[in-house]
Amino acid sequence: MAKEVIIALDFPGKDETMEFLDKFQDEKPFVKIGMELFYAEGPDIVREIKKRGHKIFLDLKLHDIPNTVKSAMSVLAKLDVDMTNVHAAGTVMMMEWAKEGLKAGAGSDKNGSEALLIGVTQLTSTDQKRMNEEILIQGDINDVVVNYAENVKKAGLDGVVCSPLEAAAIKKACGEDFITVTPGVRFGGAMICDQSRITTPAQAAQMGSDYIVMGRPITQAQDPVAAYERAMKEFGGKI
Ligand code: C5P
Repeated sequence: MAKEVIIALDFPGKDETMEFLDKFQDEKPFVKIGMELFYAEGPDIVREIKKRGHKIFLDLKLHDIPNTVKSAMSVLAKLDVDMTNVHAAGTVMMMEWAKEGLKAGAGSDKNGSEALLIGVTQLTSTDQKRMNEEILIQGDINDVVVNYAENVKKAGLDGVVCSPLEAAAIKKACGEDFITVTPGVRFGGAMICDQSRITTPAQAAQMGSDYIVMGRPITQAQDPVAAYERAMKEFGGKI
């Protein structure tokens, strides 16, 4: 499977985003558009970045009743992104309907192809204690994550967002072709920021990550292009 670094475009608006992307003259990195940028600028920002030749992971983490998620997915499909996601906590039925929506939306547009659809397992900001005592999900957090991944697979989705530390167990349960997209990656010896369970790009690759998502280590670097190239090299991706 192709190994790729996805840059998280966690910027407040279009100007900062374009100024950042302008630095990339030769390569067109795979980028992630999350809630902040999407809610600030709307779907036009997706079209504009797509037009510049970037692959896009639209990270909106849909979670609602199946019918609402299906309708939303059929609309998002028209943006022709390469990857998008839903919360696995929405149940297998919600994920199946999400997939149907994505298919229906892509099919109604002659140029549209279906995006990879990824399930978010347990957010890495939720720890064992909160999961057990606050939201009353019992059991070991690693087992819960694998169970979510199995539900994602059952629903016919392509893979999950998870910690690199969980990637191996998920591959074991769901198969090598089941995609793992992993944030929480830092260069060796670099600032950790607010992430806690981190790995380097090379460790993430070793642990079975197919895509790593990196934000600040690239966006805040003095030379973002060099930081991106370093990440791709260490992760084993082809530029
Ligand atoms: O700057 P940094 O590399 O920490 O950015 C990581 C990106 O991955 C952010 O966009 C963050 O929202 C996202 N993410 C994460 N942990 C998760 C899910 C998504 O850090 N469990």
